[in-house]
Amino acid sequence: MRLVLLGPPGAGKGTQAKVLSQDLNIPHISTGDIFRDTVKENTPLGRELAGYMQKGVLVPDDIVNRAVFERLKKEDASGGFILDGYPRTKPQAAVFDEMLKKSGMSLDIVIYMETSKNIIVKRLTGRRICSKCGANYHITNIPPKKEGVCDACGGKLIQRDDDSEQTVLKRIKIYNEQTAGLIDYYQDKGLLCKVSGDLEVDKLNRVLNEFFVKEGLL
Ligand code: AMP
Repeated sequence: MRLVLLGPPGAGKGTQAKVLSQDLNIPHISTGDIFRDTVKENTPLGRELAGYMQKGVLVPDDIVNRAVFERLKKEDASGGFILDGYPRTKPQAAVFDEMLKKSGMSLDIVIYMETSKNIIVKRLTGRRICSKCGANYHITNIPPKKEGVCDACGGKLIQRDDDSEQTVLKRIKIYNEQTAGLIDYYQDKGLLCKVSGDLEVDKLNRVLNEFFVKEGLL
């Protein structure tokens, strides 16, 4: 199954992708995670990426497309994947279509997680991530047992540079300008399935599971 999760930052794409990846037994591929790992390596490319990401602007399409191309070549993606955060512009979607076509593959479904702006802002500004294992928390919705400490590995919880309110508002604006057009793009291809990203994690997960069962995919 080849699946794309589409939606604004803070829709919960990463959270749902992690659960779906286990349920469907296919890898969760997040371009944001790939870039954050590259930033940690502190190479010239990592430093270039950090510049874009801290400002909340998009990484240039050619860098993104190359990263996705390399990731999809890996063996674990041959049986399907869940893409989270890609494509994010129409040129990326066009290159991705070509990439799939050349490999004799096609997308099965694009899940669009429609989400309200006030919910996005609350979720992202309250989000904390583990600096060691990357686990996600929220100061009120998913608090850790001990404040500032990861339940899973004991790592320190931090706020992502791009989760400050000012940067979140900028990311939403960029999403509306550059990514939201993909809703129609995939609707026209008959691939879009719309769900509410406003729902709590477990509830949305149940909705998605029911959908996959109904479609005979789970
Ligand atoms: P995310 O974790 O998906 O919110 O991504 C974090 C940041 O990585 C974004 O704000 C962008 O700077 C960059 N990024 C991730 N995916 C893409 C993409 N498909 N195109 C351009 N930039 C991206």
